[in-house]
Amino acid sequence: MSLTSLIGLTRPELAAALAAVGVEGKDARMRAGQIWHWIYQRGATSFEAMTSVSKALRAKLAERFTLERPEIVEAQLSEDGTRKWLLRFGPGIEVETVYIPEEDRGTLCVSSQVGCTLNCRFCHTGTQKLVRNLTAGEIVAQVLVARDALADYPAGKPTELRRVTNVVMMGMGEPLYNFDNVKAAIQIMADGEGLSLSKRRITLSTAGVVPMIARAGEEIGAMLAVSLHAARDEVRDVLVPLNKKYDIDTLLAACRAYPGLSNARRITFEYVMLKGVNDSIADAKLLVKKLAGIPAKINLIPFNAWPGAPYECSDWAEIEKFADVVNAAGYASPVRTPRGRDIMAACGQLKSESVKERASAKFAALRSAELQRMPG
Ligand code: SAH
Repeated sequence: MSLTSLIGLTRPELAAALAAVGVEGKDARMRAGQIWHWIYQRGATSFEAMTSVSKALRAKLAERFTLERPEIVEAQLSEDGTRKWLLRFGPGIEVETVYIPEEDRGTLCVSSQVGCTLNCRFCHTGTQKLVRNLTAGEIVAQVLVARDALADYPAGKPTELRRVTNVVMMGMGEPLYNFDNVKAAIQIMADGEGLSLSKRRITLSTAGVVPMIARAGEEIGAMLAVSLHAARDEVRDVLVPLNKKYDIDTLLAACRAYPGLSNARRITFEYVMLKGVNDSIADAKLLVKKLAGIPAKINLIPFNAWPGAPYECSDWAEIEKFADVVNAAGYASPVRTPRGRDIMAACGQLKSESVKERASAKFAALRSAELQRMPG
């Protein structure tokens, strides 16, 4: 019989799994809490390590369950401290996770799907078919891999010494197309006895799956980022084909209604700068007009080219002019220097499916490095 992973189970699911090996009755809750603590607060990778659990139970757990991490196919470290892991969950099931340390925080960029269905024209992942959704356990495991490598488990560690302080769901895939698993994973991340990250420090980025936005606010409650990239439907229809289903006004209406939206909890609008496509002063003016009334940050992202990409990055002078218009309208619009460039050097030569995935996660890495400071 193959072993069942306990990583990514909700608390009730964990209790049910333990009941299956006879941990029941008044003891059960306490035991489940203990094991939960060992997994997420202390980073136990084996039941053997769980010294507060009886030897007999540890042995029983090891017969049925596992805490095994995914295979790390590749781990890279940039000279600026950015780290990247290529993880394999099974044959052909590979994703990348990226860690971006900054002075006052460390952000982990996590994937939600292997591949993507959205086909955004400027995105490398869009050239690859969806393989499958990641499970909650596979999403959570990305955080565990980073915490393993960084010796960053929260037990007994003062908050100011934490290394992974923020998570952005900005890796491969569309998180709102994998709602249940993303929700379960974020609940574990935000559980004070789990991965212990505040929901203010977890950001979910969507290309604009309108019917799921309200539910994301109500049921997940993370910070929201929206990949807007254009202020006109003719342009967005091409860049983000999902726009043909949910146009800009429909998307922005859902944003205005996002549960919990306030000046302290703004929506981040991502806007990739594409030369001659969406980067004119008129576009900037229309953008701020469209966003009027939404507590927002605007994140301008220099386009990261890839082989065969049908676009170029805007000239720096144009990006600055665009940012000036956005700033004048009262929005912060940082354009940040990309991080970890040195470990992305081979971008131009990547070809195979799994290598394409690496390329797209690299773009996500650049993206999250530029993500504006989140409150809280
Ligand atoms: N599907 C979700 C999550 C992916 S987040 C979403 O669309 O929001 C990844 C971010 O990187 C998105 O804003 C995406 O539009 C952006 N991106 C994709 N390819 C890029 C590229 N080549 N250069 C810059 N940003 C890119």
